[in-house]
Amino acid sequence: MTARDPADRYQVAVIGAGLAGAATAWELARRGISTALVEAYRPGHRQGSSHGSSQLYARSSADSLYVELSGQAEACWLELEADAGTRLRHRTGALDFGARRDPVRLAARLGAAGVPHELLAAEEAAERWPQLRFDPGPVLYHPDGGWLDPDATVAACVGRAVAHGAELRTGVRVARIEQLRSGEVALRGPGLDAAPVRAELVVVAAGAWLPELGLPVRLPPLTVTQQQVFHFRRREQPGPRPGWPVFVHRGEQQVLGLPSGADGGTDGVLGAFKLSLLDDGRVTTAGTRSGVVDPASRQAVSGYVRQRLPELDPEPFAAATSLRTSTPGGDFVLDRAGSLVIVSPCSGHGGKYAPLIGRLTADLVLGKAEAPARFALPASNSGATARLRP
Ligand SMILES: Cc1cc2nc3c(=O)[nH]c(=O)nc-3n(C[C@H](O)[C@H](O)[C@H](O)COP(=O)(O)OP(=O)(O)OC[C@H]3O[C@@H](n4cnc5c(N)ncnc54)[C@H](O)[C@@H]3O)c2cc1C
Repeated sequence: MTARDPADRYQVAVIGAGLAGAATAWELARRGISTALVEAYRPGHRQGSSHGSSQLYARSSADSLYVELSGQAEACWLELEADAGTRLRHRTGALDFGARRDPVRLAARLGAAGVPHELLAAEEAAERWPQLRFDPGPVLYHPDGGWLDPDATVAACVGRAVAHGAELRTGVRVARIEQLRSGEVALRGPGLDAAPVRAELVVVAAGAWLPELGLPVRLPPLTVTQQQVFHFRRREQPGPRPGWPVFVHRGEQQVLGLPSGADGGTDGVLGAFKLSLLDDGRVTTAGTRSGVVDPASRQAVSGYVRQRLPELDPEPFAAATSLRTSTPGGDFVLDRAGSLVIVSPCSGHGGKYAPLIGRLTADLVLGKAEAPARFALPASNSGATARLRP
């Protein structure tokens, strides 16, 4: 890639300042690549996938690729936190339980990757974490798990990308991407004609909007669902017990629980707890989603709290919706077709890999390394130049 000078010309333009695009812009900018980061709203907005003050950060996965990637991500998080001078993750330990979560299999995966963990009987787990009611059967605990703060992470990535020289354009929705005779590509849309963005290569990190962009690239089948999360208060002020562990429970119900972080209000890190059903999303699109919390989901999560988390007030005091984009096998998308690099850490588990996604995308952009083969676009794109509208 060649360095470019004039104001509207960049080596790379990144569309979307969610976790994936923001981390990519940070990684490119700190490597000295001239980068424009173009976002339809403002970084940190509530319309996509990357908002809120807590998401699960854990190494347990039934899939050894993602266990391995979580180890690589750890090093990237440390680099981002050092560059930003702030802590973005909180280590509370993580629990996995329920027959459908298969803790024994997860423990084997962690063991193979050398991740410290314990497999406990339900009775032992109940003694250690009396705030939770476990299913009979084994419970997996690994102390390196916890939660990350997506709002703070997006802010850190964007802030540091700009500090390293990236240009941030907000409130600008890219309507189309044009191929120029010069070989460059130009972003087009309201707000971009007066102040154009031209680049040698475009990274599309548009999340749930990806299927709506009309790109000349065959994408894997993507399903967008609207999910909801609920915040619950502790009945009493936290006592001497340290922060609650995060947990994934896949039994009769499939539930993710973790501290609320700043979204819990003044109760802060120790006070409120956030819960969501892992399997209750309604299929939608980024353009048509309602943004309305599903009352059936609220009722189900409330019932779960009554049965399983007696230290919480079962009436949620806050709720929010967000968009999840999923591939059929749960894999991420990261591949190049001509002048476009498509990146989408899909399927509800991309947040914890954010700075690694930035690194993998930057490596692909710069031709330094390929992404994992499973993240490839459908084979019909191979060799494609992804000719954009001239
Ligand atoms: C309910 C829920 C819970 C989750 N929990 C976890 C968890 O516990 N742990 C975990 O690791 N992961 C979790 N995830 C996954 C994680 O949130 C996603 O992997 C991640 O946020 C995806 O980020 P993204 O940048 O791809 O998408 P987004 O955050 O949606 O960002 C896309 C951006 O592109 C912008 N954009 C789109 N089109 C255009 C355009 N034409 N022009 C300009 N800008 C555009 C959008 O405005 C948006 O800002 C969860 C996801 C959901 C939905």
